[in-house]
Amino acid sequence: MISYRPDYYDDFKCIADKCKNSCCIGWEIDVDSFSQERYEEISFISDKIKDGSYVLCEGDRCPFLRADGLCEQIIRYGGDILCDICREHPRFYNEYEDHTDMGLGLCCEEVCNIVLHKEDKFRLIPEREMSGEIKIIQDRSIPFSARIRKLDGRTFDLKQLVQDYIDLERLYPEWTEILNGIMEQDLSYGEVERFMDDNPVPMEQLVCYFLYRYPDKVWFSVISSILISCGCLCSKSKTFFDIVRMYSSEIEYSDLNISQLEKIYA
Ligand code: SF4
Repeated sequence: MISYRPDYYDDFKCIADKCKNSCCIGWEIDVDSFSQERYEEISFISDKIKDGSYVLCEGDRCPFLRADGLCEQIIRYGGDILCDICREHPRFYNEYEDHTDMGLGLCCEEVCNIVLHKEDKFRLIPEREMSGEIKIIQDRSIPFSARIRKLDGRTFDLKQLVQDYIDLERLYPEWTEILNGIMEQDLSYGEVERFMDDNPVPMEQLVCYFLYRYPDKVWFSVISSILISCGCLCSKSKTFFDIVRMYSSEIEYSDLNISQLEKIYA
């Protein structure tokens, strides 16, 4: 079966100890059953598994994450020792009847760095014609906000949109501060569209990512681009990159959050 990947896919390499927002902190790490069997003879690892997950340490750190940001498992046994989730993250695979779409998730700061810095249009390897929605978003002859309006002509109530995000389940309290910060401001739709139009290339890469990853959820690509723009306009301490990474971690990696939004916006 044929597999497609974005052209930047092969540029990704985990930056490990250089990472300021390690995925080894704050997330539950489920160990697949095949790896659990492999670990039965390695008590150094198996002792730290309970109910199929690694027992996190203080600050929700992976028990194998050293103070210097390196992984004790890799140092002792090499990269092949890793369980599926540690080896694969932040890669994703969407399986279809006749092909697989592979990609890299924006919850990882290095992926944000690669994707949002890209100037060339999103494309796949091997080459494949883009979906109609991606073609619209890549139409650089019109302002970015006009491209979004072509995807979804609705004008969203910004306060209500942010409230709907506040009502979702939360990973980091920092995200609540971003959402509350948006609530405190009286943002107009025009300001949001101006932000999009002032940042057309990273916005385009962002929305292409969503459209590729969730081809049947165009509404999600649209409300994500609006919410992220609001966050960027209202946060003084966070960059566009920070907001995208946090958004991805908070929303994309929670099925509950996506299905909650789907009930309101699909
Ligand atoms: S967030 Fe990305 S760069 Fe950072 S440790 Fe995880 S995979 Fe590596």
